[in-house]
Amino acid sequence: MKPLPKEFDVLTIEKRWQKEWEKMGVYRFDRKDKKRTVFSINTPPPYPSGDFHMGNVLNWTYFDMVARYKRMRGFNVLFPQGWDCHGLPTEVETEEFYKIKKTDVPPDKFRKLCEGFVNKYIAIMKDAIIRMGCSPDWTTEYRTMDPDYWRRTQLSFILLHKKGYIYQGTHPINWCPRCETAIADAEVEHETREGTLHYIKFPLANSKEHLTIATTRPELLPACVTVAVNPNDERYKKFIGKEIHVPIAEKKVKIIAEDMVNPKFGTGVVMVCTYGDKADVQSVTKHHLPVIMVITETGKMNRSAGKYAGLTVAEAKKAVAKDLEKQGLLEKTEKLQQEIGVCWRCDTPIEILERKQWFMKTRVLTEAVENAALDVKWYPDYMKARLIDWAKSLDWDWVISRQRVFATPIPIWYCAKCNEIILAEPEWVPIDPKLEKPKIDKCPKCGSSEFVPEKDVLDTWMDSSISSAVHAGWPDNADWHRLFPADMHPSGTDIIRTWAYYLMVRNLALFNEKPYKSCLINGMVLGNDGTKMSKSKGNYTAAPDILNKYGADASRQWAAGGGATGSDIPFRQPDVEYGWRFQRKLWNAARFTSLLLEDYVPAKKPRLELLDKWLLSRLANTIKKASEAFENCQFNIVIEEIRNFTWHEFCDQYIEAAKDRLYKPDVYGKESREAAQYTLYTVLYKTLQLLAPVMPHITEEIYQTMYKDTIKSQSIHSTSWPPFDESQISEEAEKYGALVMALISQIRREKSENKMPLNTPIKLLTIYAEDQKNTLILNQAANDIAGTCKTEKIEIIAKKDKGKPVEGYDGVHYVAEYQP
Ligand SMILES: [Zn+2]
Ligand SMILES: [Zn+2]
Repeated sequence: MKPLPKEFDVLTIEKRWQKEWEKMGVYRFDRKDKKRTVFSINTPPPYPSGDFHMGNVLNWTYFDMVARYKRMRGFNVLFPQGWDCHGLPTEVETEEFYKIKKTDVPPDKFRKLCEGFVNKYIAIMKDAIIRMGCSPDWTTEYRTMDPDYWRRTQLSFILLHKKGYIYQGTHPINWCPRCETAIADAEVEHETREGTLHYIKFPLANSKEHLTIATTRPELLPACVTVAVNPNDERYKKFIGKEIHVPIAEKKVKIIAEDMVNPKFGTGVVMVCTYGDKADVQSVTKHHLPVIMVITETGKMNRSAGKYAGLTVAEAKKAVAKDLEKQGLLEKTEKLQQEIGVCWRCDTPIEILERKQWFMKTRVLTEAVENAALDVKWYPDYMKARLIDWAKSLDWDWVISRQRVFATPIPIWYCAKCNEIILAEPEWVPIDPKLEKPKIDKCPKCGSSEFVPEKDVLDTWMDSSISSAVHAGWPDNADWHRLFPADMHPSGTDIIRTWAYYLMVRNLALFNEKPYKSCLINGMVLGNDGTKMSKSKGNYTAAPDILNKYGADASRQWAAGGGATGSDIPFRQPDVEYGWRFQRKLWNAARFTSLLLEDYVPAKKPRLELLDKWLLSRLANTIKKASEAFENCQFNIVIEEIRNFTWHEFCDQYIEAAKDRLYKPDVYGKESREAAQYTLYTVLYKTLQLLAPVMPHITEEIYQTMYKDTIKSQSIHSTSWPPFDESQISEEAEKYGALVMALISQIRREKSENKMPLNTPIKLLTIYAEDQKNTLILNQAANDIAGTCKTEKIEIIAKKDKGKPVEGYDGVHYVAEYQP
């Protein structure tokens, strides 16, 4: 066996193996191999933002560990890697960088500018993923902005359309006036902000009386279509059915009864506007009220707002309040904390507008989503409620069209004459209707040959929510069902309501099948102050800083051990440092082993001594616990078990105790030395294997130097996971091994407490053990005890109550006599 060098440079080692693995092709999925069971991971295609943060480190470490563990378990692992390229942030960046608006240049030119940013950021993030020691199969790399991926997204749109899941309609939708696009419920974030409650007098028709309405949105008065009270509110019962004047709007509306009105909010009288919120939408549908839109797509008041036309919403709010005050109709104002919906991308308060959009029917699938979610194995289990609760909370279908540019085009045209919808045929895609005509001569309805392209594009979740089918090879590989549903879908808690949900609903509609069998959830990474990490708060740690200082293996140990799977995990640099020190400990133990095994030829199991059996039994227990924890995705337990075993039992206890046997075969015998060599060889190898999924680089480096010649596998990552071997478990060895270790560590502690070096010789060590069995065992381990404690002579006497007691072991005492 070759010796390991004393010094090692983590960063150099890591970079070298990252290159070698790619050259060796260790992580390739073998589509032709029909023997091994496949295990497919629905790797999230990240959004190329150029920023790889500690949250990504956590996420990627989780599923990379699973991929590595499953490979060692003998699975043919598909760990693909793609990039979810389209989207608003890149468009906004392009607009800002080139100082243009999306409409200033032709759409395909704007696309090209966006692609430039995406390619630059993909390169940065790909580098970070490799730098982390992740093991995707890079031959599978794809980009959702490529026509080949459009083809799949567009094909799925066509199939869903043909199945009746897609429809076009004018319905209220969430609208971001800054981004000028429709957005889905999942993209609306809720924030508490301060608003002003305006108490406005509404004069009753044909009466001197008035009712007061409290609203935060006086600018919507021109869009007021009715006034509502709760039918059980005694104060207002008598006004139901009467007419009332709407100030500013110069019109009268009817007062209606509505159960949804909360008598305790404001004055208990509310105005229904089109649209202030989702409750307004419900009232309009329920009571068949007219719709008056007063806000434009850019967030300004339109002509229906009369004299306020052209003002922004905020300006109109002020102007209306001022006018109300002049007319004596503003009773008072008060501040209030209210929850409002804002755009996920730009934090602008969203408006509810009516505009013609494309929708996917999702609410009809809520029950199917719930059943499928219950059928999925969740890690941790309680996370399934997040998906089910979200699905049940949705009151609108999924709006899938966006009024943007950098996204997959909707493969639709309209007949210029009769407006007939022309849906692309499956064999036409990929296609951009803005650049190409439909492949038919004339409109099937009216015969016209003039067509108008659909300019809207698809929500980017329409790209990524077919990922598991695309990874499996749909629609090109006839055997894609071998890999579908994905065996594991990894997801952050923040994207359960988007990615996990859209995948579920989309695949149930498309294939009548769930897209994944299990779901591995990671929490968010918190800053050292315990709140969500963010660049603006100063609690932010950039991933490259950590990776460049401590390397990937130490960072991965933090990710694995930071907390229970699914829970939010604070980023703690000391945890990374601990991982770094553990690496050093492992290296030193391996180096010691390599030096003492230079002459060792792996052979049959020799006759083992007590402490050898003890360590092998402890190892078998560790394998059992780590394997179980891996199966349940409890990574913190995995790393804790293996590190504790390695650091304390293997390095601190066994190696110290076995040193003399290894160094002095002339004193203790050749067979005794071989037993210790066998134990070191076996335990170190299996420990490296257990650690390989978490610390892929250093374990590979040690394996290649020390074990490759005898084990013959090209990489430690191609070896088989050590099986739990029950025959190695020995309760007796564990019980008595622990006694010997307790005795040794107590004597060592005594020396250091008395400020004596650990190698201070003991002239005579007398051990009193009343129990016959203890006496026998201690005699068997006398060599190791004497060697570790530097004892010249050792006597074991079957008597009780003399000397110092050994903690935790009744009836075992000792007396150590030092040189005078
Ligand atoms: Zn926005
Ligand atoms: Zn037509």
